[in-house]
Amino acid sequence: MKIFCIGRNYVDHISELNNKIPDTPVVFMKPHTALLTDNKPFYYPNFTKDLHYECEIVLRICKNGKSVAEKFALDYFDAVTVGIDFTARDLQDYQKKNGLPWEIAKSFDNAAVVGKWKPITKEEKKKAMAFSLTKNEGIVQQGNTENMMHSFEKIISYISHYFSLNMGDLIFTGTPKGVASVQIGDTLCAYIGEENLLQFEIK
Ligand code: MG
Repeated sequence: MKIFCIGRNYVDHISELNNKIPDTPVVFMKPHTALLTDNKPFYYPNFTKDLHYECEIVLRICKNGKSVAEKFALDYFDAVTVGIDFTARDLQDYQKKNGLPWEIAKSFDNAAVVGKWKPITKEEKKKAMAFSLTKNEGIVQQGNTENMMHSFEKIISYISHYFSLNMGDLIFTGTPKGVASVQIGDTLCAYIGEENLLQFEIK
């Protein structure tokens, strides 16, 4: 199982981190050991002092494929949820400044949190999806997939030109603005529309 992530897919988030707008999707990966499911608590790692949440829509791949054309790409996922792309921002800033890869900042154990899967129909895939994150019951991120720079079709097609897609692979599709740090004791809850699909504690 592979976990793909798209960076810089919402303009408002690109500006908040002073990044350049990319022409093509920015792709990085997390290993299967990064996966955290079932609302299990997340244990704050000792190698960072600035752990950020990034709330994102996550797609579940349901079909094997390679070099998928955009017009067929919607057939390649069958469920969605909300997830957290945890990022050690202090480590990432250092890596970025020095032109180094991001893995230690983004791909560590439990850094890919996913909520409960929600099956999705072909019609629903074409509609805009609102999602949000609360921290200790206050809203901290609100996004809508209509504001993505690269659509689900584009992302799936693009990734599949470089990597085979396999059933069970996951794609984190990028975060809107509002990323910030968490502390031990915080509770994060994430929603698609009004539906709560993820809730867990930082320990
Ligand atoms: Mg992200």
